[in-house]
Parts: sequence; structure tokens; C-alpha cells
Amino acid sequence: MRSFGQDTRAADLRPGDDPTVGEGPRRSREELPREKLALALISKSEEDPDSRVKTGQTPRERTEPLQTAFDIAGLSVYYGDKPALREVTFEIFARQITAVIGPSGCGKSTFIRCLNRMNDLIPNARVEGSVRFEGQDIYAPEVDVIALRRLVGMVFQKPNPFPKSIYDNVAFGLRVNGMARRKGDLDDRVQKALDKAALWDEVKDKLRDNALSLSGGQQQRLCIARAIAVEPEVILMDEPCSALDPIATARIEDLMQDLKQDYTIVIVTHNMQQAARVSDRTAFFLTQVDESGSRYGQLVEVDDTDRIFTNPKDQRTNDYITGRFG
Ligand code: ADP
Repeated sequence: MRSFGQDTRAADLRPGDDPTVGEGPRRSREELPREKLALALISKSEEDPDSRVKTGQTPRERTEPLQTAFDIAGLSVYYGDKPALREVTFEIFARQITAVIGPSGCGKSTFIRCLNRMNDLIPNARVEGSVRFEGQDIYAPEVDVIALRRLVGMVFQKPNPFPKSIYDNVAFGLRVNGMARRKGDLDDRVQKALDKAALWDEVKDKLRDNALSLSGGQQQRLCIARAIAVEPEVILMDEPCSALDPIATARIEDLMQDLKQDYTIVIVTHNMQQAARVSDRTAFFLTQVDESGSRYGQLVEVDDTDRIFTNPKDQRTNDYITGRFG
């Protein structure tokens, strides 16, 4: 039996919905048994030799062994008949920040969207290979995509709060997923999420104000709070600071350091300094051209961030980080 439950396809989502908060068919918490799911995932990861504790990695400031969050094998993505990514294979470890870097068009966004099946929402996208999350094949037909996206939330480049109150933005996913029965419980969860997103002190006296009245940096932290509220295990961030000023960017980067205690974070960034500042591991992607002239993205190397930026194995990585191209 698969842990992601019943088949719920991306087609259940309407265009423009934010799938990170589970908008789609309305289901109760009982119908989406997250605790059961999490338990199943935990027991699965204990028995699955693929997701056993890894050693030999030397991420900064960590002494405990690493666990695999995502195991990606032979992942290729096509838009129509055009390849966008080919044969990507690597692991993403839990409770770490993994940065995905590379020049524009090398498939970074395409890649990160594979981790919670956001590419399902693009009509001509086709995915090959496998992505296992905590041992589960997330592309298996019986996977509940809505449940998956609750566990693997996403924050986008441009802050996209709903045109609702600050409170309602954070409460939205909780309500849709039936995660808070009583008003007091909802209030607690909203406060907790805003607190974790380092926004509570700034908004606690104006929770009923429209979210669009917040600054860009505050809106992005609100989107992080909205993602956190539904208790994900992973937060995917696609260029989360590219629309923000340096001060707001620094706040998000600080916040990421706090969040990685509790969450696995994958960040796409075109900003190498940001990758070097915030991440534990870095995956470097590059565009290749095949014999027929087709351009596609490829993973060149993935390693400890310190190593990628000081002593990469591949010459192409070295050329990129030293600014020779891209
Ligand atoms: P990056 O994030 O590194 O800039 P993308 O993943 O956005 O790269 O794009 C990789 C390739 O896939 C590019 O050639 C881009 O034009 C193509 N691509 C991305 N999204 C789509 C889409 N929705 N439809 C068709 N082609 C796409």
C-alpha cells in the first residue's frame, strides 16, 4: 500500500490555484491522514535500505548522520518533444538546505517542480525516471498529489499572497485541509506559522489587514508562513529573493537557517553568493547541446557547498563559479 493514499491528480487543481496549500477537492483531515502518512513514511524510511542513514558527507555544523529526503534517479523532463532535463541522479538530504544553481535555461525550475509534481500542471510536460520522497515513488499512479504537495510545499519567485487578510492567508490551507477544528486551534496554528516565518511581531496587531498592504519581503515571509502552516516536511523555494531588496533578502536567508532545523529546503537561485551563504549542499546544472542540436539541462556535479565553491571536481563548475560564463 502506498503512503500517499488515494489517487488525486493534478487535474483536480484549477488553473491559478496555489497547489502548495492544497486547493482542489475539499477533503477533511481524516480523508487525508497526514499523521498516518507521516508514520508510514517514517517506518518505510527505516526499512528501506535506499533511505538509510548516509555517512561520509560533511555538511557544515552537523554532527548527526544524514537521512535521504529525495532520491532522484535518471530524471528526465520533456516539454512536448523538447528535452529540458536529462538523466539527473542525486540525493537530497533531510534538514539541510540544498541549492540548485546554473545559468538561465539550464532546467533549475523544471527540476525543482519535479519534487512536488508541479510539472503535472504544465500540459505538455513529461517526466521520466524516478523521484522517491522518503522511500516513496512520488510518480506512482496511486499517489495523492494534493497530500504530496502538502508535505512538499513551495514558495515562488514573486510573493503571491491571496488578496485576503494576513490571517486568512495563513489559515487558508488549514481550513481547506480541515486541520483546525476550533477557532482557538486555528488562531494558535496561524500564530505559530507566522512566528516561525519571523513575521509575527510585525503583523500581530494587524492580522485583519489585507496581505497586499505588506512590503514585498513581508509578503514573501507570509507565503513562507502559509506554506509552513500545513506542516510540510520540505519547502521548495524557486528564486525566493529575486524580487526582494538586499535587506529583505537577508531576512529570508536568516529565516532559512532557522527553518532548516525543522524542514528540508531546496532553493533555486541564480545568485551564487546566495547559494554559498545559505546552503549546505549545491547542485550545479548546465545546458548541453546534443548531436541533433537539442539543448537540455544536465546535472554537472553536486557536493558540499564549501567544496563546490572552493574545489569543485568538474572544470565546468570551476569556470562557472569563477565567472567565466553564465
Ligand atoms: P531555469 O530555471 O534554469 O532558467 P527552466 O527550467 O525554466 O530553466 O527552463 C529549462 C528549459 O525548459 C528552457 O529551455 C525553457 O525554455 C523550457 N521550458 C520551461 N518551462 C517550459 C514550459 N512550460 N513549456 C515549454 N518549455 C519550457
